[in-house]
Amino acid sequence: MSPELSQLIELQELDLEIQRIADKLASIPAEREQAEEKFNQYAAEFLALKNQHEETLAERTRLETELAETQTHHEKFKQDLMRVSNEKEYITALREIDATKKHIGALETEILKRMEEAEALAEQLTTFAPDIEAKRSEVDLVLASLDRNKAGSEDRVGELESRRGEIAGAISANLLSMYERVAKARRGMALSEVRDGICSACRMRVRPKIFSDVRRGDQLITCDSCSRILFYRPNTTKSAEAVTT
Ligand SMILES: [Zn+2]
Repeated sequence: MSPELSQLIELQELDLEIQRIADKLASIPAEREQAEEKFNQYAAEFLALKNQHEETLAERTRLETELAETQTHHEKFKQDLMRVSNEKEYITALREIDATKKHIGALETEILKRMEEAEALAEQLTTFAPDIEAKRSEVDLVLASLDRNKAGSEDRVGELESRRGEIAGAISANLLSMYERVAKARRGMALSEVRDGICSACRMRVRPKIFSDVRRGDQLITCDSCSRILFYRPNTTKSAEAVTT
């Protein structure tokens, strides 16, 4: 077989492998999303409870801040009461002391309610937790495995692309552009193996004269029907990948 032809064969194997890995990489974000979505569906009730729990705690914190502020005001009005200089100031201070006291009472009741709510929610969450944690671990394993695949695939593409650069650099510009033109038109398959006298890509029988030329492998011959560059391997039981490995 001519060196050019074997270089083209390797180029095609590299391109197909790069494309295969690129397709796999492209599907990873969707697979991640799917794993997360599955977990979210499974854990929907749990997550809703968890959300509610967090909101209750946040509301409690907010009420406690308001309580502290109201207590400060209340103390201030009590101080004011001792410093009043007329009836009007006295009444105002008394009214404020009374209002803040009521507000403090209301806030304390609300805080207590939130505490009880949070406690009840926490208890419900505890019963769910082991199951959810197990499910979460499962999902995390899937995600970690996808990340590993991604890293491995990216490394592999890097290797393949550097090898592709070497091969492409060794092929004449004309031939390379012909290869790329056909590959583009034929979904990455610029070459086709002839098996039993048939173009394996388009399934057309090649003429006997052409077949014998292809078997000699010393020139570039394209398929009349699909325009792919034809090649022949004496041992056709060997898979196409065997060329690159
Ligand atoms: Zn063909």
